[in-house]
Amino acid sequence: MNILIFGPNGSGKGTQGELVKQKYNLAHIESGAIFREHIGGGTELGKKAKAFIDRGDLVPDDITIPMVLDTLQSKGANGWLLDGFPRNMVQAEKLWDALQAKNIKLDYVIEIKLDREIARNRIMGRRLCKNNNNHPNNIFIDPIKPNGDKCRVCGGDLSTRADDQDEAAINKRHDIYYNTENGTLAAAYFYKKLAAEGKTKYIELDGAGSIDSIKETLLSQLA
Ligand code: AMP
Repeated sequence: MNILIFGPNGSGKGTQGELVKQKYNLAHIESGAIFREHIGGGTELGKKAKAFIDRGDLVPDDITIPMVLDTLQSKGANGWLLDGFPRNMVQAEKLWDALQAKNIKLDYVIEIKLDREIARNRIMGRRLCKNNNNHPNNIFIDPIKPNGDKCRVCGGDLSTRADDQDEAAINKRHDIYYNTENGTLAAAYFYKKLAAEGKTKYIELDGAGSIDSIKETLLSQLA
């Protein structure tokens, strides 16, 4: 099964993605995480991408698109959940063209909807577990509050992402996400239109609910 997931930063997209990934045994391909691995490993690509990421800007398409398409090819043969890509119209079209060219079916596109202000608060409360990026911890969300200053799932040390604590960078990321002309929502609506033509299936979820209720609605809609 191949799935695209959209949602503003802070919508719980990573958490839901992890659940879907486990259920269907998919490769979870997250463009932001691939960039962070490159930065951590000190690669050339990481060095080029870092300044854009720190500012909350998109990394240019000529770096991002080949990186993601290569990862889909190398890690996605048995099904994938693609998260964080596409984020603009060029990426949306290039991905669709690449899938068509290889006869790869896009089974579902998921959109988690969330009000911009709620998303901003959730981001600022987010804490990252050193052991697993997808252990949910957020100081502003009661059901996933950390255990003191440790991960509520595994007790690991927690940290914040620099770009999560910078309001200007968050605003920039949301400007990109909520832009329906050429931003990420434009990319999502590109697939919504394809779904209306029967070429994929589009699932819309209300991100304001609890993790469990969103999960239940989501899993009931996936075959
Ligand atoms: P994320 O972890 O998805 O919030 O991504 C972190 C950062 O990586 C973003 O703010 C962008 O700078 C960069 N990034 C991730 N995905 C993309 C993409 N599809 N296109 C361009 N830049 C991206």
